[in-house]
Amino acid sequence: MSEELQSCHEDLSTVNHQLGKKVDELESANDDLTCWMTSTDIATLLLATNHTIQRFTPPATRLFNLTPSDVGRPIDDISAHINDSALPGDIDEVLRTLMSCDRELHNDEGRCYLRRITLYRTADNCVGGVVVMYIEISALKRAEDDLRIMTSRLEDRVSERTTLLEAQRDFMKLVQDSIVEAILTVNEHGVVLSINRAGMRMFGYAANDVIGRKVNMLMPEPYRSEHDAYITRYLQGGKPHVIGVGREIQGLRNDGSTFPVWLNVSEIVRDGLRLFVGTLHDLTEQRRIEYAARERQEELTLLHRVYTAGEFAAVMAHELSQPLTAISGYSEAGLQHLRRGQVEPDGLIDKFEKITLQTQRAGQVIRELHKFLTRDAQQREPVELNALIRSVIELLTPQALARNVRIKFMPSAAPITIMALEVQIEHVLVNLVQNAIEAIQAAGKAAGTITIRTSADPGDMVHVTVQDDGPGFTGDAARRLFERFYTTKPKGLGMGLAICRSIIEAYDGQIRAEQPMEGGTVFHFTLPHQA
Ligand code: ADP
Repeated sequence: MSEELQSCHEDLSTVNHQLGKKVDELESANDDLTCWMTSTDIATLLLATNHTIQRFTPPATRLFNLTPSDVGRPIDDISAHINDSALPGDIDEVLRTLMSCDRELHNDEGRCYLRRITLYRTADNCVGGVVVMYIEISALKRAEDDLRIMTSRLEDRVSERTTLLEAQRDFMKLVQDSIVEAILTVNEHGVVLSINRAGMRMFGYAANDVIGRKVNMLMPEPYRSEHDAYITRYLQGGKPHVIGVGREIQGLRNDGSTFPVWLNVSEIVRDGLRLFVGTLHDLTEQRRIEYAARERQEELTLLHRVYTAGEFAAVMAHELSQPLTAISGYSEAGLQHLRRGQVEPDGLIDKFEKITLQTQRAGQVIRELHKFLTRDAQQREPVELNALIRSVIELLTPQALARNVRIKFMPSAAPITIMALEVQIEHVLVNLVQNAIEAIQAAGKAAGTITIRTSADPGDMVHVTVQDDGPGFTGDAARRLFERFYTTKPKGLGMGLAICRSIIEAYDGQIRAEQPMEGGTVFHFTLPHQA
């Protein structure tokens, strides 16, 4: 019995020792919990499964009207500064589902909290109740709101900017496509990055045939082979003058034909890359006009020379015929004397014969020349006078504009056809218009106007007037204008109007100069209608 007691006592003392240890552990844990509960900044409630308060942290009093004596009371009965009417329902939900629950709440002052309910379990893993924590997230919320506002503003600005850039890009494209110059963008390796519509038209390619390929495909040799080295030299600083300075080069179309182009290159830097923008102007049409004008001018100059020679020949024929006749007469008389043997100078006879022969031949040559220079009647053909005048105006407009003189044309309502050698009538008109320009300029006028009019009555003569608002003419000029060699210009020949008269009279027309009431000069000439 005592042995049994002894054994029982030992067991009890072991259990007691273990219990003491457990109590120590529990107290230590309790101290830790109390320590955490008092020091934490987070409002926390420890509630039993029936919602009664087990413990709470000091910050919890900021949200609930709690005093230490409230321990043991249900939290549902405690008034709160935070609107958390969902708390009882959420606690029951957590106890039922064994899952924690989060909810965002606001207190009376507008602060924002994240309320988290989690289960707490006892040491033997039974549900002991719930822990309710209120974590203030106002700053986080504000930052989140700020971020949202900033993001939305940023998005608005990005969208605004995108719209603006798109509008600008569309506008630039429209502008680029509407200009007649070709515009090409090329990178440092000479690869085409863009080409506008005019460029495609000019070279006869679609954009995709050119973009991504070397720009030298648009150049004939030797430009094609030289181009890479050209860019390299430029990039190494060898030829800075190519930028911004235009130059003429040759372009190569898709069909293999070449054409003159005026090229201007400028450099831009984009995203750290050096790009070249080439602007190309097709010179083909300009060249054609220049060439036609030059040809016309040469033709007219030639004609002028021929006519001048003709007029000179006429003068020479007239001036030389008398002395030649006299020489011939004297020579023959001399010969007669010699033949009669009145003198005996050996060898003179032969010489006199030669003089006579040569002088007669000279007279003949001069007559022949005049005849040759005035033959043209058989070459006349139908010419539309108004069209001819328009081409003369086109030819002389650059010259007139350079002196601030405007050429006006008032053609007849109906076309006028004459039988003529086009170049002769052109010559008359060029002469009259050039004289008018020179007269206006010589008078020191800042600007002037030349008016050309045509009219024709059926069956009657064709009338053409060339009127200027220059100084007119004075003194004996009225009488002498059409005289050969009459000129008031320091470098004048005085043959222009004489030639005009010869031409017009060769057509059975007439030419005269008048001084209209309003001042200036008007030349009036007539030509027969086509029969
Ligand atoms: P040139 O032009 O070589 O002088 P022209 O025979 O063409 O020879 O002209 C002769 C002269 O007639 C000119 O020097 C000038 O004095 C006069 N003249 C011609 N046209 C006009 C005009 N439109 N207005 C005033 N004077 C003119």
